[in-house]
Amino acid sequence: MVSEYSDEIKKDIELIERYQKEMTLLGQASALLHWDNSTYMPKNAALGRAEQLAFLRSLVHEKMTSLEFSESVFRLLERKDELSSRDRLMVEKLSKNIGKAGKLSKEFVERLSKTCSMSFDAWQKAREKKDWEIFRPHLEKVVELKREEARLYGFSGSLYNGLMDDFEEGMSVEKIRPVFEKLKVGLIELLSRIESSDRYREQEEESGGGIKEKEFPHAMQIEMAKEMAVSLGLSEDYGRLDISEHPFSTHIGQGDLRITTNVRDDPFFSIGSTIHETGHSLYEYGLPDDECYNVLGQAASYGLHESQSRFWELMVGMSEEFWRHFFPKFDEKFGLDGRFDDWFRELNMVKKSPIRIESDEVHYCLHIIMRFEIAVGLIDGAIEVRDLREVWNSKMMEYFGIEVKDDKEGVLQDVHWSEGYFGYFPSYAIGTIYASQLYSKMVEELSGIKDEISEGRFERVRDWLCDRVHCHGSKKLADDIVKNVCGKGLDVDAFLGYLNGKYGELYGF
Ligand SMILES: [Zn+2]
Repeated sequence: MVSEYSDEIKKDIELIERYQKEMTLLGQASALLHWDNSTYMPKNAALGRAEQLAFLRSLVHEKMTSLEFSESVFRLLERKDELSSRDRLMVEKLSKNIGKAGKLSKEFVERLSKTCSMSFDAWQKAREKKDWEIFRPHLEKVVELKREEARLYGFSGSLYNGLMDDFEEGMSVEKIRPVFEKLKVGLIELLSRIESSDRYREQEEESGGGIKEKEFPHAMQIEMAKEMAVSLGLSEDYGRLDISEHPFSTHIGQGDLRITTNVRDDPFFSIGSTIHETGHSLYEYGLPDDECYNVLGQAASYGLHESQSRFWELMVGMSEEFWRHFFPKFDEKFGLDGRFDDWFRELNMVKKSPIRIESDEVHYCLHIIMRFEIAVGLIDGAIEVRDLREVWNSKMMEYFGIEVKDDKEGVLQDVHWSEGYFGYFPSYAIGTIYASQLYSKMVEELSGIKDEISEGRFERVRDWLCDRVHCHGSKKLADDIVKNVCGKGLDVDAFLGYLNGKYGELYGF
């Protein structure tokens, strides 16, 4: 098709491919600086790093909004009927991105980037001291700028919509609220079934003697987590596992995928978060190579990204089959006296936690819905940052009946808002729902797959995800990718069905 293009079209296509490659490379350099910021950077380097990141981001913005680039894109858009479907899609996506970027000035992009870098630094210090007041003035500045950004984008409905679009294209507060409402009702019903079961009562009455109360030396936890990441497919030839305050994954460039974890006394924190971040990296690894420097080679949405991490973390990583393979090694390392049943039961125990990333599968989405409501309030102006700690603590009581012990396990627990990621939280719930749909479909399509998992063989799982999800990049919308595989897009009923089936069995109802 490309060979039939006129010289003008060819020239414009070449130019927009070149620009996209340059922007991708600058983005990857920023990702490396950001990774370093969260792992090994000396304490006093925050200000210098904020300058470097702001500069790189402003260069990307300059390229995205440059006359030469936008003229080429809009010229191609006018002649889109002459383009291949692939090029047409690329041009349509770019024109949207240019339109959005054009609403922000270079000065605004720099200010936002610096403010977020400094706010992230303050968040880390505040966590160390468990003191919200260290972080509060920084978050006030971030929220003010994010409100301004949302206003500049000018989306209709809630102001939060302008920010959410970056994470979940086409999603809005008005669309997701009824979905979350249905999810919330279903989760509360399931929790009341669990809590009124005999097994739950026994669990609550048992005191002490739990397998997780044993000592799990931290260095050995990391060794185990590394081994698991490699088994799942994150080879050390193109992957790294390091430690950061909040676990994350990042794609630095071709052949360079990095994940981080952290360690708690509960060994499933380091292991679960490593499996989660490995899932993200495997998605990045599976994105189409031939589109790696353009907008079509990116993830379809954050929700779909989260579906990949949650798929591995929950559906695979908490399954009996998975532990049939890994428990003997685990037992050998930590001396668990062959107590497989105890380990598996405790791993899947429903027990409320004040901390999202330590939460069980049933409570997890309630944490997300709570954060979504707070974030919409912060951006719309219904909640002010100065009241955030009180709002947080009272919502924890309302949703979970939990009294928050300190700011570290309360309002300071998540990194996202410190870095300006308003609009992100819904993606976790969307991803978790997608993950349950994809997993049921995979089990239906791949006979014998559970046996393979119990033997530690994950190639067919990886290939299936790659073939059904990863290979599309962003050539399709996330919801359409899931719909094509599962026959339905975002489906709360399927997720609630999965949870009711699993926990009905575990809690005997
Ligand atoms: Zn994730």
